[in-house]
Amino acid sequence: MMRKEENRMDKSLENLMYRAIEIIYEAESIYIGSHVQPDGDNIGSLLALGMALKKLDKNVKVLKVDNIPDYYEFLPKIELIRDYEIEDNLDLFIALDSSDMERLGIGGQFAKNANTVINIDHHISNTNFGDINIVSPSAAATGELVYEFINRLDVEIDVNMATCLYTAISTDTGSFMYSNTSYKTHLIAAELIKIGIDTSYININLYQKKSLERTRLLIDVLKNMEMHLDNRLGIVVVTQEILNNNNAKMEDTEGIISFIRDIDTIETACLLKEMGENEVKISLRSKEWVDVSKICTKFKGGGHKRAAGCTLYMEIDEAKDTILEEIEMAFR
Ligand code: AMP
Ligand code: MN
Ligand code: MN
Repeated sequence: MMRKEENRMDKSLENLMYRAIEIIYEAESIYIGSHVQPDGDNIGSLLALGMALKKLDKNVKVLKVDNIPDYYEFLPKIELIRDYEIEDNLDLFIALDSSDMERLGIGGQFAKNANTVINIDHHISNTNFGDINIVSPSAAATGELVYEFINRLDVEIDVNMATCLYTAISTDTGSFMYSNTSYKTHLIAAELIKIGIDTSYININLYQKKSLERTRLLIDVLKNMEMHLDNRLGIVVVTQEILNNNNAKMEDTEGIISFIRDIDTIETACLLKEMGENEVKISLRSKEWVDVSKICTKFKGGGHKRAAGCTLYMEIDEAKDTILEEIEMAFR
C-alpha cells in the first residue's frame, strides 16, 4: 500500500510535464542543452530526450556546450550532440540537469533567445529559471525525470534510449549506491532492463575501461592527499602540472573524489582542480550528514546534499584555504 503511494509521481509535477508536452507538440524547432563539464546524467538525458523527440518528427537539435569525455563515446547516437550557430529567435529551449542558466554555458544564450524555456532538473539549488520548471530534488538523476517525461509522450522507449537513461541513472547514483537511490530508481532501472539493454556492456564501458593515464594520475594525486578535522575531511589537488606529468586530461580526475570519500573516517571529500590561472573548480562529496550543496551555494555553485561543486576565481592555494575554512564551519 505504502509502496504504491511512493511509486506515483507527484501530481503537480505530472501536470507540469503535460503542459511541457503541449508546448513541445506545438514547437517548430527545439534545442536541448545541459550543463558544462558534462557527466553521465547530463549526456544520457540529452541523448534519450533527443531521440524521443526525433521519433515525434520534431526538428530537434542537441547542443554541445563543452567537450564530451571520451568514456561516454560508446553511448548510442552520441553524434547527435554537436555545435550549432546561435539563433536570434527560437521556439523552445529545453534545459536538462542544470541548476541555473550560467551552468548551461553557450546554451544560456540559446535559452535567453528562446520564446519558451523548459527546465527539467533534480538539483536542490535549481533557480527555477524556466517558464516551466519540472524540478524534483527527490529524483536521483535527471534521467529519472526524463524517463517519466518520455513515458508521457507518444513514443516508445527503445533500447538506445533505455541505454542512455540507464547510464544517466547509474552514474548519478554511484551505481545505485548513494542515498539518493530510491525504490523508484530501482523500478525505473528494472523497466529499462526489461526493454532489453545490455547492462554488462554498459557497466564495462562506464566503470571498467579506465585508461592507464587515469590510474597513474590517481596514484600521483593520492600521494598528496591532506587530512583535516580528525581525518573526517580529505582534500586533494589536481594541478595542470600533475596532469602533464601523467599525460592525463582533466576528465581523468573522474572517480578520484569518490576514492577519498570511501575512506572509513571520511565524512567530506574535497577535490580542487586547477582549470587555468586563477580558476579552480571545486568538487565536494559527503557521506552522511554534511550538506555540501549549502557550502557550494555560498560560492555561486550548487548541487545536492551529498555532491556539489563550485568555481573559485583565485590561485589554487588560496582556493584551498578558502574552501577549507567553509568546510570547517560546516563541521562545527
Ligand atoms: P561535480 O563535483 O562537478 O561532479 O558536481 C557535483 C554535483 O554538483 C553535480 O550534480 C553538479 O551538477 C553540481 N554542480 C557542480 N558544480 C556546480 C556549479 N558550479 N553550480 C551548480 N551546481 C554544480
Ligand atoms: Mn550533472
Ligand atoms: Mn544529475
